[in-house]
Amino acid sequence: MARGVGRATLVLLDSDVDENPPELRRLTGQLYGGDERLRIQQEIILGIAGIRLLSALDIHPGVLHLNEGHSAFAPLERARAWAAGDGIPFAVAHREVAQQTVFTTHTPVQAGHDYFPPELVLEQLGWLARDAGLAPHELLALGRVNPNDEHERFCMTVLALRSAARANGVSALHGRVSRRMWQALWPARGEGEVPIGHVTNGVHAPSWLAPQLSTGYAHYLGADWRTRLASPDAREAIAGVADAVIWETHQLLKRRMLAYVARRSMARANEVVELDPAALTIGFARRFAAYKRPTLLFTDGDRLARLLNAPGRPVQIVFAGKAHPRDDDGKRLLQLVVAMTRDPRFRNRVAFVEDYDYSVARHLVQGSDVWLNTPRRPAEACGTSGQKAVFNGALHCSVLDGWWAEAFDGTNGFAIGDGHAHSDPAVQDARDAESLYRVLEGDVVPLFYDRDADGVPREWVARMKRAVATLGPRFTADRMVRDYVLQCYLPAAGGMSSEMRR
Ligand SMILES: *Cc1c(COP(=O)(O)O)cnc(C)c1O
Repeated sequence: MARGVGRATLVLLDSDVDENPPELRRLTGQLYGGDERLRIQQEIILGIAGIRLLSALDIHPGVLHLNEGHSAFAPLERARAWAAGDGIPFAVAHREVAQQTVFTTHTPVQAGHDYFPPELVLEQLGWLARDAGLAPHELLALGRVNPNDEHERFCMTVLALRSAARANGVSALHGRVSRRMWQALWPARGEGEVPIGHVTNGVHAPSWLAPQLSTGYAHYLGADWRTRLASPDAREAIAGVADAVIWETHQLLKRRMLAYVARRSMARANEVVELDPAALTIGFARRFAAYKRPTLLFTDGDRLARLLNAPGRPVQIVFAGKAHPRDDDGKRLLQLVVAMTRDPRFRNRVAFVEDYDYSVARHLVQGSDVWLNTPRRPAEACGTSGQKAVFNGALHCSVLDGWWAEAFDGTNGFAIGDGHAHSDPAVQDARDAESLYRVLEGDVVPLFYDRDADGVPREWVARMKRAVATLGPRFTADRMVRDYVLQCYLPAAGGMSSEMRR
């Protein structure tokens, strides 16, 4: 099925067609669940059927961009077809295909990387090895860090790294972490020379910005504000917007968000959470996973209760999120947070919105005062929800991990911790919790409640402006796509041989 999305063609692969026997029809029926065999079969559909389908549609891409290892059979199939068709050695075809292949790894978390038992790979791809003229161990070597270790499982990320001449992580820090993680693939090189770079993720501002703010950006910066955001005069124009205008617009968006949360939030049996539009409101919405530490705030419940219920300076927190269906730790953390909404100490101060999706995300990033992110450094590859929130005027309060490690400059948000990681996660968690409380108690709350005669928090608004001016131009999808084109796609396309270019 091919569909137009904007100016791109999206092709959807579905095995549920009449010609297929029942056991094949169910292969694309569900994303998670199922065993390793189903998983590798799905990845064969994605990579191998994907390449064949493009050919059948007469689409011959100049550059193949793999996102995560799941699609890494694609360059393998390309090389196989080329070697078989032109009668050249597979190794030569594979090297040539790699020149036009870009690979982006998206997580340093081990569970995010697929590994398969060697027997399963041979069972499923023996035909490909035979067709490509590869001995079984040669096929397996493509997915092994140590090609001579017969016990090593076959890793899709290793296959992707061996099949792409250009590879990158999704933030500067994640690039460094990835070079360390995969250094063994380049035994002759030092960590700094491992050929994995980075392109930091960015968000598509028009999809996440509140309509009121798009109008505002256009009013103050001109209709072409998206391209102008990076220019020095844009920074001046932002600085020149009246604080009261910014603050009133933010209040409006915040009230809308709180009304939405009140309608949808979970609390004591059917009792609605009454959130306070005047209270400092912290948003936390993302996939629930252990490394993101959604319960870090609750490390010291009494201290948190004092913070949330301080007279005249109330603080409230809105949570949303889902756990991966196979992540039991994530589900347990989610239940803990839901239980906190029922704790009498946090009455009307902690809300949880169910069924996290793009609509929930949009509301929360558009109306929160502060966007909180508490990953255990350096496990967050990039993180993008904070970028969405910053565009909408929230101040980001985060561990110096992912994009925030390169974005925070001391004046455009808040930092938790000092950017150091401890080898013992328990020590790391205790330190970060302490730092989180200190930042909230000592910086965030005082700044938010420091008001002028008209009730406007001037220093807070100044920080909102600095956040938009310094982060807006850097963390957009526009900048990200430009980086991919200049650093990855054009060099990869230039490396093509004439046979492959057609
Ligand atoms: C932005 C977004 C994410 C990713 O958020 P991170 O901060 O990168 O974890 C996940 N799910 C939804 C619905 C989102 O909108």
